[in-house]
Amino acid sequence: MCDNHVRAAVAFTASLWVAGFSSAALASTSQILDIDGVRVALELVDSDFSNGTAPLVAWITRSLGIVAAYYGHFPASELRIRVSSANAGGVRHGTTFGAHGALIRLTVGREVTQTELFNDWVLVHEMTHLALPDVGSEHIWLSEGLAVYVEGVARAQAGNRNAAEVWADEARAMPRGLPQAGDGGLDHTHTWGRTYWGGALFCLLADVEIRRRTDNRVGLQTALRAVARASGGLVSGWPIERVLAVGDAAVGTHVLEELYARSKDAPLQTDLPSLWRSLGIAPAGDSFELNDDAPLAKIRDAIMRAPLDSLPAGL
Ligand SMILES: [Zn+2]
Repeated sequence: MCDNHVRAAVAFTASLWVAGFSSAALASTSQILDIDGVRVALELVDSDFSNGTAPLVAWITRSLGIVAAYYGHFPASELRIRVSSANAGGVRHGTTFGAHGALIRLTVGREVTQTELFNDWVLVHEMTHLALPDVGSEHIWLSEGLAVYVEGVARAQAGNRNAAEVWADEARAMPRGLPQAGDGGLDHTHTWGRTYWGGALFCLLADVEIRRRTDNRVGLQTALRAVARASGGLVSGWPIERVLAVGDAAVGTHVLEELYARSKDAPLQTDLPSLWRSLGIAPAGDSFELNDDAPLAKIRDAIMRAPLDSLPAGL
């Protein structure tokens, strides 16, 4: 499944959005929702979903709550969501735009079920993009990596996923982010694996190291909350150095800046089996199991546990 967020093309996209409201008025329906204080302008370009549109609204409400709980607030006060239908089922595609106001475009199968919507990762991923300023295409690994990493953690914290299953997914997928022969640093090699999973690995390494240096008091989540609050999220553009400095200051370390310095220009080698052993994530048959005797097991569990000051999830 492909997804991206595009800020450079927002002017073009914004004009499409306006045109869509007028010329497609007969086929589309639009409504304004207030979800946890966020004004959501929802346009259903098609309404031919076999289970009706109420499950879509529940899905949007649930996903917004998951992201709001992770960040302590939803990273946009206003959001436009445009949903189109496609053949078959499932959530098919999402794209997020930020420069002229937060906009998420989604394509959903007409036969989509409530179970598929409950288990969907796409919308939480897209909404997570709203929390990070635009850092430029050279650093797209940071925006995609954060969206991949935060999606699993935020859903586990909200009870939408089992934490052990999220760790198992990470253990299976994270090797895709390792540098391949001939790769450069994260700012120079923009393959799918390095962008999505190389970025996610950066986030995991940062999360673990921040927690290790702070005696597990705070982690990447605290840094990301500070960045979202200070920047206003994707509606603004920041140099990556500012993002990392603000995040580091919030947790009282230099983990993000140091990790970036080590991985931006040269391929950073990571011993993943050793990392999983330290965290107590052990292969078990065709999956993984959690071992509470591992040295970083408490850090592992703290990552997936909602902070005490999270919004009441009610999810
Ligand atoms: Zn994305």
